[in-house]
Amino acid sequence: MKADLFDQRRLLELQAVDTQLTQLEQRRRKLDADPALATATQRLRGLGDKAAHLSGDLADLDRDIERVEREVELVTRRAEGDRTRMASGAATAKELEGLQSELESLARRQGTLEDDQLELMERRESVETELETTRGQVEQAREALARIEADRDRTIAQIDAETDDAGSTREALKIAVPDRLVELYERIHARQPIAAAELVGRRCGSCRIEKSPADMIPIKAAPIDEVLRCEECGCVLIRTELPQSKPTTLASEEELKKYT
Ligand SMILES: [Zn+2]
Repeated sequence: MKADLFDQRRLLELQAVDTQLTQLEQRRRKLDADPALATATQRLRGLGDKAAHLSGDLADLDRDIERVEREVELVTRRAEGDRTRMASGAATAKELEGLQSELESLARRQGTLEDDQLELMERRESVETELETTRGQVEQAREALARIEADRDRTIAQIDAETDDAGSTREALKIAVPDRLVELYERIHARQPIAAAELVGRRCGSCRIEKSPADMIPIKAAPIDEVLRCEECGCVLIRTELPQSKPTTLASEEELKKYT
């Protein structure tokens, strides 16, 4: 295939845009897998679970405290009843003995209940303090996550804008380059990320393989408008060390000889 070297060189610009688009895509994928975002999300979830557990514990403790309070009330009422009966003078000696023994047992029960009550109140206080602290941490974790998400959204917007720009540049370049050359480029680009590369010295800019002096003979002999391909990787090989267009003056003929 033949194409003006100037047009061939435009493929390098197209390649640069495609490389930029690939990098933008990679940046976006990296953002999706951002460990900071995953860590912050996990932390918030963990703290949320902890706060929910503590709230549950607190509700359980409140129920226990209420139950003990009711029992204390029952014991107190029963003891009052017993004392009223004893004071009434209507009870028999045997009954008085029974009431006395019950009062002692009720007093012991009340003592135990009051110990339980105290212990439950202490536990409640400690759970409440922990819940308070955890709620503060949940709030901080929520703010940290929101900051990370906002940063991420800003970066995504930036990537989107750069992708749009690169897409427009790509379209403009495609219009500027002859169709056959673009078709060749696109065909290669569908197979491999680098479809056009510079020939630097004897090295292909894509696969980085250095050509032997024997391989260089046909490359050097090829007319400048001949579209060359790298035999190793298949990309279009662009000679950037040659003058831009076909020489018409004696001076550029001389210049061309230096390179070929
Ligand atoms: Zn190559």
